[in-house]
Formats: sequence, structure tokens, C-alpha cells
Amino acid sequence: MFSVLDMFTIGVGPSSSHTVGPMRAANAFVSSLRDSGMLAQVVRVRTVFYGSLAMTGMGHGTDRAAVAGLEGSLPSTVDTGHLLTIKQECDQRGTLALAGEHSIAFDYDRDVVFELWQRLAAHPNGMRFQAFDDRGDVVDEQVWYSIGGGFIRPGRRDDLMIGIHERPPQGSTFAERDDDTQRVDFEARAPYHFASCSELIEVCERTGMPICDVVWANETAMRPAGEVRGQLLRVWKLMRSCIMAGCTSEQTTLPGGLEVRRRAPQMYRRLASNDDVLRHDQHRADVALESSDAAWVNLFALAVCEENAGGGRIVTAPTNGAAGIIPAVLHYYWTFVDGAGEDGIVRFLLTAGAIGYLFKRNGSISGAEVGCQGEVGSACSMASAGLCEVMGGTPRQVENAAEIGIEHHLGLTCDPVGGLVQIPCIERNAMAANMAINAVRMAMFGDGSHLVSLDQAIKTMMDTGADMMSKYKETSQGGLAVNVVEC
Ligand code: SF4
Repeated sequence: MFSVLDMFTIGVGPSSSHTVGPMRAANAFVSSLRDSGMLAQVVRVRTVFYGSLAMTGMGHGTDRAAVAGLEGSLPSTVDTGHLLTIKQECDQRGTLALAGEHSIAFDYDRDVVFELWQRLAAHPNGMRFQAFDDRGDVVDEQVWYSIGGGFIRPGRRDDLMIGIHERPPQGSTFAERDDDTQRVDFEARAPYHFASCSELIEVCERTGMPICDVVWANETAMRPAGEVRGQLLRVWKLMRSCIMAGCTSEQTTLPGGLEVRRRAPQMYRRLASNDDVLRHDQHRADVALESSDAAWVNLFALAVCEENAGGGRIVTAPTNGAAGIIPAVLHYYWTFVDGAGEDGIVRFLLTAGAIGYLFKRNGSISGAEVGCQGEVGSACSMASAGLCEVMGGTPRQVENAAEIGIEHHLGLTCDPVGGLVQIPCIERNAMAANMAINAVRMAMFGDGSHLVSLDQAIKTMMDTGADMMSKYKETSQGGLAVNVVEC
């Protein structure tokens, strides 16, 4: 078990696995060089990206994020403006300040390598960092994997290299390490253990507690209640400011070359200023379309996703590509549900976090591993659960909503055009946010009994992901990515 707070981390766009993870991994590499006293010997570093990180890394800013990590930056605090210009700055200077303190010569095009047609066997998002001394000898070499949602794991230096479309040999795929001290500590202190949704429901029914209270008890066993609540409300505050930033952005198009127009600012002006809309005049067709809550939910999701695509500050929820869904549904609750308040925000996020934990534990939240069902599907499921909880759903109704949220995303592929988190990602978040609200409508209409369990749906997602051809798993080698001609 691990803290559900880890499902909501503050990072930068556009991708948790391809931007946030590589920055963290590069930072971990230089931190270990510094902490072991080897930093001063280093005259050159080389970074190699494999698999999905190589295929779509350019569009995701993977290289720039990793170089910022080598400089000592972290996703929660990095200057997002610096990230956009870091390559030009390195090219002009020809140097890099490793860990912010040790200057070395740096040739960006030579020292950052995209190994396009190979992946590491253990995980599709692999990267290798090498540090050399002045004789050209390797001082240190580390392999890291970005396993989704900004989470990273160290790997073996001798991990097998295989073709991008090859299936890894049996037994070589990534397995969670069981020596994670934070996790072991959490397990020792958490009063309620659950490894599946059925176990979580069993705890709820045995104790009479709702899901959010079970999670609250676990979290507050690790840290003071004020800290848990404060962190969740900080997440909410950042989600709101991200929506506002997206609604008021003066940038007209998104970076990356596709010239995708930002739609949230115009949509915001129109929805906010339309008196007819505010009066809910349903007689005119255009007003009917714009006056529904769904139009606002679309806006909230688009605003966050456009900020993400523009490299802005983002909460991974549970990933950056799917970062618009939970804020949009939370904002729907905040704006349209009578009696909404900060207590409800906390309960929503605790419940959504519990469902995210189950996806991360028993499935995957990585598009490179299982396609978009693991990103947008899991975010929709989390948002459905959170909303159902604050609408007064029982634990079984919450499970029902979460299951509906993933079931109708099963099989969803990841095929971003140009390797950018823009098409289909941005609109897909808006669709999924509205789907989450609809899932809650259906779940609340029933009594919580349902045929397909959330555990079965998560297993189905994993099985489907394993059968999915790798060209549909964040490589931009199939689907829309090949049928939409890039400008
Ligand atoms: S298609 Fe889905 S999984 Fe792929 S980058 Fe976009 S949001 Fe992420």
C-alpha cells in the first residue's frame, strides 16, 4: 500500500510519464552523483531514451525535462519558462550545470539520444544515464523507468534491449520492488489494508465507514490530519488556478507545430457573458447547447488540458494526459451542487485517490503500458467514484460508478498525433469528465448492486492492454497519429 496523496502530485505539462518522470529520474541520477562525492569527477553526461520515451519524447518535451532534472530541477518547482528555452540556452552556452553546481561541457544533440527503434525489456518507458570522467571512463551508469503518473523506478543496467514492437521475454517485464521503505512503513501504520476493491468494500461494510473515512484513517496514521487536509486542499487550489489560467490564457495556439487552437479562453468568455445561458433559456438551440452543465464541464477540462499541453503547472490526476477530468468533475461539484464545500473536496479526493491506488496497484496508469484506457479510463473511474461519494453514494454505489467509468473506456488506444498531448487527448478529457458525471447518475439510480466488479474491469483493462499492439501504446505509430497528416 502507499499513500493516496501520491496519486495527486504537482508537476509540469505535458506528460507525467514523459515529462515529470524523466525529470525526476535525471534529478535522482545527479543527486546520487553528488551524494556519493562523484560529481566533481564528471566531465560529460549522456542520456538515452528508449521505447515510448524515444518515439514520442520530442512532442512531450522529454529531453528538456531530463536536462532540467540534470540541472537539479524538480517538477513541482521548476521554472516552466526555462523549460521551454532550455535547449537554446544549452546550445548557446555549450555547458550544463550538473545538480546546479558543477559545470560540464554539454553538446545537446550529442549527449541526448532518442533510441527510436529499441526499448528496454522491463518497461516501455526506459532511460539510461551515464556519467564519464576525463579519461572517458564511466563513473556511474543508471537505468530508470517512468512507470506512469510521474512515478519512477530504478532498473538494472543490463536490462535487455529489444525491438520496439517485440514482446518482452517472459519474466523480464517490470515488477514492483518489494523493498520500498515508504511503502513498508505505510503498510505497518495503516489501520485498514486493502489490495482490491472487494477488500475495500468489505472494510467499509465491516466498519460502517464510507470509503473516504477508511482512506482518511490510513492517511492520518502516517501524518497529522491538518497536513493531509492541507495537502488535499492545496491540490484543489492548484486545480482551480489551472482552470482559471486556461480560461484566461492569451496564447492562441498550443506549442508543438500542429497549430492546435486554444479553445478554453473563447469558450469561457462566451459562457460567462451569455445572459441567456445564465437564465437557462432552453428555447433557442444554441442556448440549449451552451446552457447545460456539460458545456461548463467541457470548458473546465479543456482549460486544464490546454494548460498541460502548453507546459504549464499541473496536478497529475493520475497522469498529465488525463489531468483535466478530475478537476473538471470537482469543479462541477463545486459550482453546481448545493452544499458543496471544502469538506466535500477532501472526501472527493480521498475517494478518487483510493480508486487510483487500485488502478496503480492492480492495473496500470501508463498509456505506454496499456493504452489510453489506463490514463483517461482510470481518471474517469476515479472522478466517478469521488463524485458519487460526495453525492451521498454508498460504498457499493461508489464502486458501481467507478466501474462504469472504466468499463466504457476498455480498449481505448493511445495514438497522439505528432506525439503531442493534444489530439485526441484534450477533447477526450472533456468527454470523459461528462461520462464520469453520467456514471454517477446511473450508479445513484441503482442500489449499488452490479454485475461487473471494479476489480474485474481493472483486470480486463490489463489483459486488453497486454493484447494491444505496441503501436497503439504511446508510440505515435498507429491510429490517429498515422491517419492525421501533420503540418
Ligand atoms: S491518447 Fe490518452 S494515453 Fe495517449 S497521450 Fe493522450 S491522454 Fe495520454
